[in-house]
Amino acid sequence: MGEDRWIHFSYDEKDPDKGYLASAEDGIPDCWKTGRMKPGGLDLKALGCKVGRRDLVLEVQTFEDIPETNVRNQFDRVTKYFAGLPIKNPDGSTGVFVHSFIVPPRPVSEKGAISGDFDSFRPPVPHRGVVHWVQVFKDVGGVATIWGHRAQVNETWANVIHELGHNFGLVHEGYQERPYSPIYGSVMSYSYSYGIADDPEKAGYSYGLFKDHPLNERNLDEHLPFPIDKVRFLSGRPYRYHLKEVSDGTTLIDWNWNGVFGEKGIAADIDWEAGRRTFDNVGLGRANSTPVILDANGRLVVLTGQRGTSGGDPLSSDAPGKLTIRSWTGPNEDQWIGESEVEPEATGDASAAYADGALWTACPTRAGVSMRRVDLTTDGSAKVDEPFLVPATVGAIPTLAVHNGELRLLLWRDAGRPVGVRGVYTDRDKPVTKSETPIDGLLSLYPVGATSGGGTLWVSAVAKSPQNKPKWRLFRLSDDMKVKSSEWSAGEGAGRLQILWEADKAYPATGQTHVFARGGTDTFGDIWTATRIAYKEREGGWLQIHHDVGGAQTRSAPGVAFFRGDIAMAMWRGDNSLYLSFHARGIRPEPVRDYDDIWHIAHVGLQQSINVMER
Ligand SMILES: [Zn+2]
Repeated sequence: MGEDRWIHFSYDEKDPDKGYLASAEDGIPDCWKTGRMKPGGLDLKALGCKVGRRDLVLEVQTFEDIPETNVRNQFDRVTKYFAGLPIKNPDGSTGVFVHSFIVPPRPVSEKGAISGDFDSFRPPVPHRGVVHWVQVFKDVGGVATIWGHRAQVNETWANVIHELGHNFGLVHEGYQERPYSPIYGSVMSYSYSYGIADDPEKAGYSYGLFKDHPLNERNLDEHLPFPIDKVRFLSGRPYRYHLKEVSDGTTLIDWNWNGVFGEKGIAADIDWEAGRRTFDNVGLGRANSTPVILDANGRLVVLTGQRGTSGGDPLSSDAPGKLTIRSWTGPNEDQWIGESEVEPEATGDASAAYADGALWTACPTRAGVSMRRVDLTTDGSAKVDEPFLVPATVGAIPTLAVHNGELRLLLWRDAGRPVGVRGVYTDRDKPVTKSETPIDGLLSLYPVGATSGGGTLWVSAVAKSPQNKPKWRLFRLSDDMKVKSSEWSAGEGAGRLQILWEADKAYPATGQTHVFARGGTDTFGDIWTATRIAYKEREGGWLQIHHDVGGAQTRSAPGVAFFRGDIAMAMWRGDNSLYLSFHARGIRPEPVRDYDDIWHIAHVGLQQSINVMER
């Protein structure tokens, strides 16, 4: 850091001629604006600065590949924007007065050095403390010092005000715990940095209209005490919430997308742009297969394949590993009881379900699908029974579900063969399977997920769309395990999907379904989820959101289970580590707020940005 040196500018508020009074809260002393002093040789009076107004002086550096008229137009637009801000100045004028001067362009050959080493390029020493120095690039993203006077910008005017916002001390989150608040309609937020209400010309700082109206995702009110004109931006990019005008001049908003306006006390994730945040995720060691997570009669358990510390690849018949089980003891999210072995030689992804007071596992092995009963003792450890080998299942990938109180074992083999199903009943605690029946019409490119709800066994599959893409497809099976109907579910990608179902009065015919997947067709991808919404025009009635799990990618769809009102999610990361979130609904306790950028700029930002004079 070296040493900071402080220069104290003293002044007498009653006598502007004495000292360095900056009467307009812009950090520029009046005696510079009158021309009495010319800091660094700059004649601020000639540039247009005036005592009693907020002035902002920009020294603009370009490259030879950008026509000066472009830069001139860009900064004229910036000037117009700042002039229109509702900031009252001591002399009765409003806005911030921008005075920019463009210095001779740099050769294009210097671009790489400058973009690659932001900190080494600063305004000329005599101009420090007077100007904001803005370097314009044709093709480089913006960067700026937060509380400072340096910025690199692209050729858009909105990027200039974004980066200058950083100079003024503004941050992407709008000084709240989390980014992407829908009601922080600011060019500083990545949700709105390209414009407001789909209009790039409306990009700008937040006026803080909603600063006294924080939102709580666990207790939302769909009534906004604001006229629709003030909140219409919420129906634009990126969130596209649905609004309704009320005759008393207020507005209703459908935060949870269920087609019902004006609900109170609802819970919803409302700031999912750029990824649903699932709180802190808990690391649970290694994984070499898709994790299974289950609420076993109030106890949360995780099963995963492991191959010791060597070998990073997924379990296979050439390289099997053990299937292990762990129980959460709590109360902290990282408190789990040690592993028990369920299956010594697992060759792929297992499945599990809870029925008849016990946990049942189905696991692929070289000899076929092995089923076991697992009893969980009160101290959290697991008592694992002898295996039962399901006949004629070598190479099959099992999916267990409980439907009408009975275990069902689905068996996937390949894309060309219908998924088979076996009923499973228990005889003196041993699983016994009935004969296998193919389910006509249930084809999937990958193994399936399954869950029971609303009198239906739901099966999540991936099928070739008419456009020949691998699309998510949901099948509804009747009690006799026949396909009743099927539908596309918005998403696309390779690999098995996981599915959860819950009753929801907004969707009486179907209930709510949550589909979880690994996106894309590569070995690794983001976690994606889709839920039903009331608006068919959006992806056929599905809201797709990807999960932000700290930048890590996943090898498979996560294991998911309803747990304590939320969704618990177990993730198999690209580095073969196992991570768990208890909050996959993305509904967080911190308030979602607005921030008054304009107040900040007027009273703090302008004066606290140029007073740092880096050497
Ligand atoms: Zn930024």
